[in-house]
Amino acid sequence: MHWEWKTIIEPFKIKSVEPLGFTTREEREQVLKEAYYNLFKIPASKVLIDFLTDSGTSAMSSEQWAGIMRGDESYAGARSFYNLEKAVRDLTGYKEVLPTHQGRASERILFSVLGGKGKCIIANSHFDTTRANTEATGAEALDLPVKDALDFEKPGPFKGDMDVVALEKIINEKGAENIPLVILTVTNNSLGGQPVSMKNICEVSRICRKHKIPLFFDAARFAENSYFIKLREHGYQNKSPKEIAQEMFSYADGCLMSAKKDALVNIGGFLAMNNSEWAKRCREVEILGEGFPTYGGLAGRDLEAIAQGLVEILDEEYLKYRIKSVAYLGDGLRNHGIPIVEPPGGHAVYVNAMKFLSHIPQSEFPGQALACALYLEGGIRAVEIGSLMFGKNDQNTKKFIPAKMELVRLALPRRVYTQSHIDYVIEVFEHLAKEKNKIKGLRITEASEVLAHFTAKLVPV
Ligand SMILES: *Cc1c(COP(=O)(O)O)cnc(C)c1O
Repeated sequence: MHWEWKTIIEPFKIKSVEPLGFTTREEREQVLKEAYYNLFKIPASKVLIDFLTDSGTSAMSSEQWAGIMRGDESYAGARSFYNLEKAVRDLTGYKEVLPTHQGRASERILFSVLGGKGKCIIANSHFDTTRANTEATGAEALDLPVKDALDFEKPGPFKGDMDVVALEKIINEKGAENIPLVILTVTNNSLGGQPVSMKNICEVSRICRKHKIPLFFDAARFAENSYFIKLREHGYQNKSPKEIAQEMFSYADGCLMSAKKDALVNIGGFLAMNNSEWAKRCREVEILGEGFPTYGGLAGRDLEAIAQGLVEILDEEYLKYRIKSVAYLGDGLRNHGIPIVEPPGGHAVYVNAMKFLSHIPQSEFPGQALACALYLEGGIRAVEIGSLMFGKNDQNTKKFIPAKMELVRLALPRRVYTQSHIDYVIEVFEHLAKEKNKIKGLRITEASEVLAHFTAKLVPV
């Protein structure tokens, strides 16, 4: 008899383990108080399930650890560099490969060559460090997501797409000579981890080529994006994730990469492109801040682990499990009436705290209140993406201007947690849903001007 299994299992067995941080509710109450209700200030040893981020939190494979031992630590021209260069060329087709210590270093190098005052860099959505590095050169960072991306309740297959009509319009208004770069972030991290379709990539590429504007991917989650194309876009069902990724990269001129996501490593990144003239200028900047261009701020062993990670991430059994486990968490929350951003993304589920805790006004940070409640009740750490992160005080009136959204992101580290961990998280949410009226808002007692969410101190109201 032949049939398809319904159960999607973790496609690995566990070789090395570390204990979780079990605590009592009383302890967590104390930990929260001492951390001023800011989860960035909590020692990780006091966290049971850590969904703070999927960045640099992956479990490496035995082959990656073997690569760590094989790493060639020569200052220049290390064998590990050539291994990485080969892996990146094979995947992207881009000739020039510059390793960096992480994604934001790639951004800083590229934008310092292409950006500058009076310039405008356009993206489907800039990730926060991408925006900050663009603005640091004096350039403007402009987001052109499709309209549906901002409608959290409306499901759609490719809510990461760029608004191509708006793109043409902006290019005509600003003049192509003032737009040094267009970026497609795959998947779109800032707006729910939603994928970009091949159709949209093609259209954006065609417009950019017509106007002679280079197109780059912010490729942190390129493999998750490829798998969504396979699942959701007509004509890709029989292609491998690698073939799809190669096709994606073929429509652009280069990419920025944070290897801490879809290269399954704890630190690292790279910059790749076809244009040798830009690459030459990028290498000059790289030497100043990162190191010699064949190691770029990393050890030889790190380069080896990235090269191996780029192969493993495209394994179809892995991607099936990855996308399915995020969807499984989303289904579990939805079944208990928890409002989430639809559909769940590739790396995270986003809970709509504004809707879930409608009794807490935005001035009392419903997202942060939910994140604290998750920790208090279940030892789960998540991150608020709402008014604590993006809220501002009006410069003149001093009145509080809340963010457009109050979300809590549950980001899943790669290959780290199993289905029972996710079942547990769903159970904690089930409990919270019953008691949600007891959750109280928070008030800020101390905050810095920039990136306040990392350091702010709060108390319950
Ligand atoms: C994480 C991330 C970055 C920045 O990379 P780091 O490795 O954290 O410096 C840039 N873009 C996207 C889309 C990311 O998710």
